[in-house]
Amino acid sequence: MLLIPSQVKEFAGIVSDAGFKIYLVGGAVRNIKRGVPPVDYDFTTNAMPQQIMALFRKVIPTGIEHGTVTVLFKGYSFEITTFRIDGKYNDSRHPDSVAFSDDIYEDLKRRDFTINAMALDVLTGELIDAHSGAEDLKNGVIRAIGNPEERFAEDGLRILRACRFAAQLGFSIDPDTLKGMHSQRHHLEGVSSERIRDEVLKSMTGDRPSVSFLYMQETSVLEYVLPELLEGVGMEQRERHKFDVFHHNLFSCDFMEKDPILRMTALLHDIGKPRTFRLRDGVPTFYCHEKVSAQMAGSILQRLKFPNADIRRICHLIENHMFNYTDDWSDGAVRRFVARVGRENISDLFKLRFADRAGSMGSTTYACTPEDIALARRIDLIVSEATALGIKDLAVNGNVLNQKAGIPKGPAMGQVLNFLLEAVMEDPSQNTRETLLDLGRNFYRTRIDL
Ligand code: ATP
Ligand code: MG
Repeated sequence: MLLIPSQVKEFAGIVSDAGFKIYLVGGAVRNIKRGVPPVDYDFTTNAMPQQIMALFRKVIPTGIEHGTVTVLFKGYSFEITTFRIDGKYNDSRHPDSVAFSDDIYEDLKRRDFTINAMALDVLTGELIDAHSGAEDLKNGVIRAIGNPEERFAEDGLRILRACRFAAQLGFSIDPDTLKGMHSQRHHLEGVSSERIRDEVLKSMTGDRPSVSFLYMQETSVLEYVLPELLEGVGMEQRERHKFDVFHHNLFSCDFMEKDPILRMTALLHDIGKPRTFRLRDGVPTFYCHEKVSAQMAGSILQRLKFPNADIRRICHLIENHMFNYTDDWSDGAVRRFVARVGRENISDLFKLRFADRAGSMGSTTYACTPEDIALARRIDLIVSEATALGIKDLAVNGNVLNQKAGIPKGPAMGQVLNFLLEAVMEDPSQNTRETLLDLGRNFYRTRIDL
C-alpha cells in the first residue's frame, strides 16, 4: 500500500463516502503486487457514470455507453468504469450490449486474464482475487479467465494482449490459453489495424519484445499481424550470424534501446532479406536487401496505420543500415555519408548497427567494432568543422547563381547546386562565394548540354 499516492486514496475516499464501492483494477494492481509503482489508475465502481460526474468537477465522458468516465483530480487522471456484465460479442471486438451490475465478482469475470482480474480496495487494503491472479502473478503466468476459446472468440484482441503482456512482464502463457489463442486466431481478422499496432508497440516496452513475436509464431497468430517476418524462418545466413533471418530480426529488436520506434526499426531492418536471397557459388547472398527491407517496412507500417513521420524515419534508417566503413574512406566520403544519412539520424543509425550486430551473435560483446569507433570519431570531427553537408549550407544559392553567373533557374540549376555540394564535400575550403560562382559558371558552360 506504500506505493499508492495519497491523492489516489483521497479520490477513492470521496466515492466511498458517497456510499459507493470502488476498487483499483488492472495494471495498477498488477504493479502494486509486484512492488512497482503504478503508471496509470483504472478503477471500477458500482456507481453509475452520472453519479461519478456529480461528485467531481472535472470529468470527461470517455466511454459513457460502456460505463467509463475519466476524472481529473489533483494532477491525476483516473479512469472509472461501472461494474459490468458484458453481453454477447458479435463482432469479435465489442460486446453487443453492456449491462451494469452491482457485483464486483461479475465484473471481474468479464476481464481477460487472471492477473488483470484482481480488485484492490485502496482504503482498506482488501484484495478481491476470485481467479487466483496473485498466484499467477507470482509464478509469472498469463492465463485466460474461464474457457480460453470462448474468451478469445468474444474478443480477438485478447490474443495479442496475451502476447504483449508476456513480453512486457517477461511471463509465460499457460498451455490451455495458448491452445485457445491458436484455435481462435481467425478472430484477429475482426480487429482494427490501429489496435493491432498499439499492442505491437506495447510489446516493445519490455526487456525482450521477441517473447511476444515468438508466442505469435508458436500460435500461428503472426500470420495475421506481421506475416512478412515468417519469410525469414529457416533462412540461414553467412558467418557472423548465429540465427536465421527471423530470429535475427527479433533479437536485434531485443538489443535495441526501449524506444518503440527504434525497436520497430530493428524488428524490420532485415525483413526483405528472404526476397533477395541468391546462392552465389554456394554462398547465400542478400544483395540490396536494405532497399527491399525499407520498401516492405513502408507497406507494413502503412497497413498498421503508423504516422507518416514515423514511417519515413524507420524506412530511412533501414535503407541506410548497410554502410561498410574502412579507414581508406576519404574525408569527402565521410561527408557524403553524413549528408546522405542526415546529421540528426547518425546516432540512431549507430544504434541500429549495434542492435544488428548484437542480434547476429546473441550478445553485445562484439556489437561495437574498432571501425565503428573510428567512423564515429571522424563524423564528430566533420560535423564540428561545420562544413556544408547540404545545399542550404552552400555559400551561394540559386538566386546568386542566377544573377551573378547567369545560370537559368530550372533543372540546370539543380544540377549545378548538386555539383557544387559534391565539390564542397570533397574540399570544404571551396565553400566561398567567389569560388563557387566560378565553379558553377564553368560547370554550367562545359558540362550541361541543354
Ligand atoms: P496497461 O494499462 O499496462 O496496458 P492494463 O491491464 O491496465 O495494462 P488496460 O487496457 O488499461 O490494461 O485495461 C484495464 C483492465 O481492463 C485490464 O487489466 C483488464 O482487466 C480489462 N480489459 C482491458 N481490455 C480488455 C479486453 N480486451 N478484454 C477483457 N478485459 C479487458
Ligand atoms: Mg491500464
